[in-house]
Amino acid sequence: MSLINFVVVGYGGMGKYHADALISNEKELLQVVGVYDIDRDRQVVADTFGHQVYSSFEAVLNDETVDAILIATPNDSHKELAIAALEAGKHVVCEKPVTMNVVELDEVLAVAEATGKVFMVHQNRRWDPDFLIIRRLFKEKPIGELFKIESRVQGANGIPGDWRHLEAHGGGMLLDWGVHLLDQLLWLIDSDIKHVYADLSYVLGDEVDDGFVAYITFENGVRAVVEVGTTNYTALPRWYVQGLEGSATIKDWAMNGEIIRATGRTDIAAPTPIQAGVGLTKTMAPPSEEATEQLEFPEPKAEYESFYRNFYNVVRKDAEPIVKNSEVRRVMKLIETIFEAGKVLV
Ligand code: NAD
Repeated sequence: MSLINFVVVGYGGMGKYHADALISNEKELLQVVGVYDIDRDRQVVADTFGHQVYSSFEAVLNDETVDAILIATPNDSHKELAIAALEAGKHVVCEKPVTMNVVELDEVLAVAEATGKVFMVHQNRRWDPDFLIIRRLFKEKPIGELFKIESRVQGANGIPGDWRHLEAHGGGMLLDWGVHLLDQLLWLIDSDIKHVYADLSYVLGDEVDDGFVAYITFENGVRAVVEVGTTNYTALPRWYVQGLEGSATIKDWAMNGEIIRATGRTDIAAPTPIQAGVGLTKTMAPPSEEATEQLEFPEPKAEYESFYRNFYNVVRKDAEPIVKNSEVRRVMKLIETIFEAGKVLV
């Protein structure tokens, strides 16, 4: 079957990664036939990297050899570009956050429906090794049913770039890393949300949030904490999960951490009190050696195909999308709820 011809729209940090790695890596399925960026300097960089550079977005849309476009522009421009591309008969891969809100997303999805073209959002972190390990713990239950999931990313570099500082461009961390963490969580837990409590951080003085924490309770009883910070000079673990029979920590993307399971043995001595500060405690003493065992991390292997392979198969009508638009919409709705919940506390 013929290759899918892509044009990358927005050749900044992420657009370049799509053009020069993600799409190009799937050589037998897809090819980048050109790039369009509104900025002259980025056009020059694209040219340097050997890409055909289109002079305008209209030129991309009018090129009948182009099958699909990848949108990697600032968040506020996704809707308009996606609708124009779909109406011109192109399939679309769009960077996250798909749009600024649910109303805008519905407008895009209506056009995708009407034109019959594929519209898929690049929720790439469904393939992250750390997430895949948590997913296996959740599904295979080596430490029992997970009842509490804490998912965090914390840095100390503030909000990056320029447009990410501005509300009009869809800046802020909830619309940035927040989208990834919430997408992972909602994809993992197949249950409605019961309630959300949230706090947005504005310590850097920007008009957009520089981080947030959301406490989410699902109807099935699972509780989650999702947190993004950009002012954290020491960071909490990327993941901390509790199951009915153990707990696990993944500290970082180098996959440092541990899984500790209770052995359930009843023939062992109770922990003896330890000195804790200026007091004694038995409650907080480490469990005796026989009470727990350490498990190896499971293989972080996705049992589903890569994003772009899936996109190819969806376009060819050979597969269902792994990132479904109904799921993307649910995440967008939760983001709106977190913004609302956060406002109450400001
Ligand atoms: P960036 O600022 O580095 O690049 C954006 C580029 O878009 C710039 O070169 C700019 O000139 C260009 N641009 C702006 N408006 C345009 C228009 N109307 N038409 C054509 N080009 C236009 O930003 P970035 O970090 O690459 O982020 C781009 C998108 O990718 C954002 O939506 C962001 O959330 C997303 N992103 C996703 C991931 C991920 O892991 N999935 C990672 C980073 C960024």
